[in-house]
Amino acid sequence: MTRFIFITGGVVSSLGKGLSSAALGAVLQSRGFKVRLRKLDPYLNVDPGTMSPYQHGEVYVTDDGAETDLDLGHYERYTGVPSRQSDNVTSGRIYSDVIARERRGDYLGATIQVIPHVTDAIQDFIKADLDGEDFVLCEIGGTVGDIESLPFLEAIRQLRNELGPERTLFAHLTLVPYIPSAGELKTKPTQHSVKELLSVGIQPDILMCRCDREIPDEARRKIGLFCNIAEEDVIAALDVDTIYQVPVSYSEQGFDERVCSYFGLDQGGSADLTRWKEIVHRIREPEGEVTIAVVGKYTDLLDSYKSLAESLTHGGIANNVRVYLEWIDSEIFESEDTVHHLEGVDGILVPGGFGERGAEGKIQAARFARERNIPYFGICFGMQMAVVEAARSLAGIKDAGSTEFGDCKEPVVGLMTEWLKGEMLEKRKTDGDLGGTMRLGAYECSLRKKSQVQGIYGENTIFERHRHRYEVNIEYKKRLEKAGLVFSGMSPDGVLPEIVEIPGHPWFIGVQFHPELKSKPFDPHPLFTSFIEAAVHQSRLV
Ligand code: GLN
Repeated sequence: MTRFIFITGGVVSSLGKGLSSAALGAVLQSRGFKVRLRKLDPYLNVDPGTMSPYQHGEVYVTDDGAETDLDLGHYERYTGVPSRQSDNVTSGRIYSDVIARERRGDYLGATIQVIPHVTDAIQDFIKADLDGEDFVLCEIGGTVGDIESLPFLEAIRQLRNELGPERTLFAHLTLVPYIPSAGELKTKPTQHSVKELLSVGIQPDILMCRCDREIPDEARRKIGLFCNIAEEDVIAALDVDTIYQVPVSYSEQGFDERVCSYFGLDQGGSADLTRWKEIVHRIREPEGEVTIAVVGKYTDLLDSYKSLAESLTHGGIANNVRVYLEWIDSEIFESEDTVHHLEGVDGILVPGGFGERGAEGKIQAARFARERNIPYFGICFGMQMAVVEAARSLAGIKDAGSTEFGDCKEPVVGLMTEWLKGEMLEKRKTDGDLGGTMRLGAYECSLRKKSQVQGIYGENTIFERHRHRYEVNIEYKKRLEKAGLVFSGMSPDGVLPEIVEIPGHPWFIGVQFHPELKSKPFDPHPLFTSFIEAAVHQSRLV
């Protein structure tokens, strides 16, 4: 029997609802339950694919090619369950589906309304594409009280009526702030937030209260009394020093036990959190440290590089070192004499990116890494810029560039309008909609025998996730190889370069895909493990 846990948030945004959901999923999983996590986003964009990373943070791409909310990244990192298109929906998608159906005449002339048509579509989404999960955790984006989230709240209210309390649980995340002048934690915002939920007919069953210190019994009693729930169901969501402590902390607070007791599930077992404790231990007590420069564009909004930052931490966990990240805006390398910013770092990473701004700076960073023998990891755009750099400096193609920046005499990176996915030929229309026009999702890549990456992966074939429009141009492959670049990963048909490396350099690898989307704290991605290992070697040289 599949049970649904709905997670809403109150008081303020940014309380970490995504992480809380992911952590609860992980704890339930460590009790032996099969879990799946879903996110329902109230905004009107059909998907986050066209949203600015400044506004919305990273776009997380799934194996099946969905561009989703970054919280799905947390879900995968904490549970290891691969997310799918059917795990993230927005109001925009719900409405556009309902309207498309109306246009087709599917509703047989009925008047289409938010209730029941939109709310039914939301419920269908919540219940679709499941496979014997014990728990489906559905996070509702936004904060209770927002106009946008009302249809979602109404839909889950109805689901409670349909499925009953034995199959549904409402968990609500609020804030219990400490007010220094009063010297106490305040429960009023939580009371108000629950009132807000009650006004749409939802009585929470469990409260997660974000707080920076233990909640005294008195305050807990008060919350329970005013919010109409048992004291034990007031769970403190304490601030922690590393996000991977959250599952452990939740379990210590009895969260999973309360969930199980609510559903009347066997109390005998307890969560086995050994792997989380080991991860936390390694993060808290590393044996060394390395510094990685991340040379990118959205460096002032770290949410846009969420998975990347986590993957570098995972590489650190694998090598037992702390990884310090220096976020550097690539534009600074476009003026003279700024390259000293990169002196002394143990590794340079140029992540994915779009557009011309800052591109020359990324090329300079790649060049610095290549010439100074500093480990270099180029991801997607970072690979493309490394190839442009190699074309200019090693192959003597002075005008090498990417057509992403406009017309280009030597398009070393250019637009491919068709590529193979499985047996299907996919085509991209250059003048079509912007949304959904990229090469997205998992693609196969064949690794070259005896290459560095083959050694790192220990396999001949890999599947990695993509999100890009441009490709390294195969026409230049021969010239670049002659100049010293090895094309060590190719699409199975040999047409699309997937990985380049420079033999003889301590670690210089560029990948067209996004390995950061598949790394987990308990299963660090081999490329990140290897890159950080190279950075550790580098740190011993200086
Ligand atoms: N802008 C490049 C492209 O579209 C790289 C994209 C990326 O780094 N994700 O191909």
